[in-house]
Amino acid sequence: MYHFMTNKAIKKRIWDIPVIAICLLFVFAGFGVFLDFMKEGDIASAAMSVVIVAVNAYVVYRILRHRLLQVKASRYAFALEDAPGIALSMDEYAQMLADDKAEQTFLVLRQGGYLKDVAYNGATRVITLLNTDKPAVTEEFITLECPNCGAKTRVLKGRNARCPYCDQAIIQGQE
Ligand SMILES: [Zn+2]
Repeated sequence: MYHFMTNKAIKKRIWDIPVIAICLLFVFAGFGVFLDFMKEGDIASAAMSVVIVAVNAYVVYRILRHRLLQVKASRYAFALEDAPGIALSMDEYAQMLADDKAEQTFLVLRQGGYLKDVAYNGATRVITLLNTDKPAVTEEFITLECPNCGAKTRVLKGRNARCPYCDQAIIQGQE
């Protein structure tokens, strides 16, 4: 069911919402007393209230970032489920996700511990799925030159793709 997603990506923490509510209270309250302290010319207390605002804002940021990465992890994991074989190119994956920052996000999710059972070769830009019951068909990748900008890109043999640099369609002829 939850292929490619770690516990971190799946688990809903019930305390996130109350923690955000409390932290936001501290942010607004801290900002209010900051203005009061500034009016009174109490710089030390004003500085302390800035620290309180910053710490609480940072906690809110971390929780929201985690939630956002969880949502992205499920999108990215489900797209891997849709992959036709155990290997796919990053360009193809980006197209499936309709996301031109797919590689960057994929790496953040993997390094952050949200995705598992997936290997990535940054040099060949090929994703390999591990521990999956997908057919172990060997997909053959070839390097083609973009007809528009000349950039070299790895594509699955026989399948059409788009240039990751200029978005030119790369149509492969019959062989
Ligand atoms: Zn191009």
